[in-house]
Amino acid sequence: SASVGLYLQQRRREALLRRLPPRPIEIRRDEVVKGVMGLIGNTPLMRIESLSEATGCNILGKCEFLNPGGSVKDRVALKMIEDAEAQGMLHPNTESRIFEGTVGSTGISLATVARARGYETTIIMPDDVSAEKRQTLLCLSARVEQVRPASIVDQKQFVNLARQRALSFGRTKLPQKSLLDAMATPTPPGEDIVVASQVSTEDALHEAGARLALEESPRGFFADQFENLSNHDAHYLGTGPEIWRQTNGNVDAFVSGAGTGGTIAGTGQFLKEQKPEVVVALADPEGSGLYNKIKFGVMYDPREKEGSKRRHQVDTVVEGIGINRLTKNFELGLPIIDTAYRVTDPEAVAMSRHLVKHDGLFLGSSSACNLVACVRLAHRLGRGHTIVTILCDSGNRHYSKFWNDEYLRNANIPIDLSIVDDLIAGR
Ligand code: PMP
Repeated sequence: SASVGLYLQQRRREALLRRLPPRPIEIRRDEVVKGVMGLIGNTPLMRIESLSEATGCNILGKCEFLNPGGSVKDRVALKMIEDAEAQGMLHPNTESRIFEGTVGSTGISLATVARARGYETTIIMPDDVSAEKRQTLLCLSARVEQVRPASIVDQKQFVNLARQRALSFGRTKLPQKSLLDAMATPTPPGEDIVVASQVSTEDALHEAGARLALEESPRGFFADQFENLSNHDAHYLGTGPEIWRQTNGNVDAFVSGAGTGGTIAGTGQFLKEQKPEVVVALADPEGSGLYNKIKFGVMYDPREKEGSKRRHQVDTVVEGIGINRLTKNFELGLPIIDTAYRVTDPEAVAMSRHLVKHDGLFLGSSSACNLVACVRLAHRLGRGHTIVTILCDSGNRHYSKFWNDEYLRNANIPIDLSIVDDLIAGR
């Protein structure tokens, strides 16, 4: 049975690599689903009435806030864990520990899926993310470590720390080295740590998975959402096909922000493959380098003054999107992203309040950011087009910052709904 398992593992990996047409995904909401994982994905697509009426376009939001872990990241957590299991990096019910560096949502999704499959999680995040995310993680029995925000080159940066913690977890410490090196020497049982991003070839990953599958000891797994392409695949195989089916192919544009880049790259790629005319647009908060990358080909605005603070620091009330480096997941999206919109904090805040006032929609900051970009794009495309975006999470993840009027006042961010009127009027 071990060899059958390995054979199936290999077929699965090959299928993914050849990018076979994704398996059809059925909505089975009228059936009893199996546990929490049965609730992930297959989210509804909702027409946002106020913005659609005002712009003359169909502005449709994919309701990712309805996932059981409360965000779009549930899909990614499930796919990263499933792929790690298929590759022998995790064994269900072994109390292995999953490590991740995250601003919160991915941690909550990982903790949710992990518990449903018998794993523990350790989440490392910056100490300036909203308190309710930490609270939720603790309720989900995750171990939480918060660190000062730091640059990605700093060893104490949250993603780097998560990688280090994964590497030093287990019965024996294994010095960090490439998986290929590790494979050259026989490994005593219980010593393996696998870091997806360190693997240089798919073959090596498969080989290593096959070898590790024979061992059942607890180990640390660094989920690595930024570089792990299971993230992209979750959207390429899930979000993209769902949108295609839900719109019967009548989709003219797809708008998304990028934190890891998985959503825009995976969904955008799938839609573009079905219909090359689909416009894929990035919604990027102030301070992020991705807008510049799309517009100018470099992560900074070459017209800005040398040494501008904005070059190195994402300093915004919008959480979860905007980044100043190129991740492997975002890189996959580079060939298919057509354009980018810069969204300011006041615009995102105004949009979120507008949506409550006119639509009864209580959304998080990245969803609001996406919808600002949708209105801009609607003006560019003209009436009658269908624009799809992602409603990543609900406002209840954002009580202490984005939805806290006092916080916004202290940060000098106005709450001014006329900003949305101006956007809609194309001013
Ligand atoms: N919105 C929220 C609330 C998020 O947490 C994230 C992920 N960090 C995103 C959007 C962006 O998604 P992605 O990582 O796929 O780019």
